[in-house]
Amino acid sequence: MSESKNLQRFPTRIADVGGIPIHRAIPQAALRKVGAWCFLDHAGPAEPPPPGMQVGHHPHIGLQTFTWMIEGEVLHRDSLGSEQIIRPGQVNLMTAGHGIAHSEEAQTLGVHAAQLWIALPDSHRNIPPRFQHYPDLPKTQIGDFAVTVLAGEALGLAAPAEVHSPLMGVDLLASDAASPARASLPLREDFEHAVMSMSGEVRVEGEILPSENLIYLPAGTKSVNLECSPGSRLIIIGGEPMDEAILLWWNFVARTTEEMKEAQTQWEAEAASADDIINGQPRRFGKPVASGLKSLHSPSLEGVSLRASK
Ligand code: MN
Repeated sequence: MSESKNLQRFPTRIADVGGIPIHRAIPQAALRKVGAWCFLDHAGPAEPPPPGMQVGHHPHIGLQTFTWMIEGEVLHRDSLGSEQIIRPGQVNLMTAGHGIAHSEEAQTLGVHAAQLWIALPDSHRNIPPRFQHYPDLPKTQIGDFAVTVLAGEALGLAAPAEVHSPLMGVDLLASDAASPARASLPLREDFEHAVMSMSGEVRVEGEILPSENLIYLPAGTKSVNLECSPGSRLIIIGGEPMDEAILLWWNFVARTTEEMKEAQTQWEAEAASADDIINGQPRRFGKPVASGLKSLHSPSLEGVSLRASK
């Protein structure tokens, strides 16, 4: 192990999303974000009980949802009218900007996926909503690993996802042929990074990283050495440290409690009505989605004081 590297390990916690247990790696008290990545959920690969993941219509503001599908299929429907099945090897990117709502319905019982959120910088957080589907991603090889570039640039390849701050993401799958699989991945020194172990026996800089754990690599780290059992999978995310203090509550990223309350009030009014005009205003979160699932209600903000954090 290199003495100069400063590794911090973080366990994930179990949460429920749409009826299935997921491992949530970010945010946590001591790690709010990595670059602009402010949320990281790992779903699967274990099969849940029927009907699998079913997430009803719910809103987002101030962020992009980034879905990386490894196994299984999920139907995405949103208030812009998008309808898209995401399949293995593909990315869905939903830019919430000022406001959007969507539902996610697994089409297969088992779903193995990562869902990440990217906090939009102040300059872009109120842009119009948009949905983009990326069926093909750049792929390469480093050492004994197959690499898919999910976002930003890595190993000279650029991913197509349209993001608004300097960041990167890669998926690494250890070869079945090498035991152990080894590689040294170069990193941008101006980025901070996190390595998330999704399956198999993963060693980062010689240190065991149990499945569903994450190692944080601060800015200034030049490369990361990996040694994994055959078939192991991990993802690495990184980005320029974001110096904006953000507020993350429920499905929203904002800057003040007042903005949260406004979005919450608007969502609750819109979820209860099919009208185009609500309280004299056009709908913020767009048209209701034609899903058989119920819309999700927000938790209460009564007496909650939110504190923005970097
Ligand atoms: Mn969502």
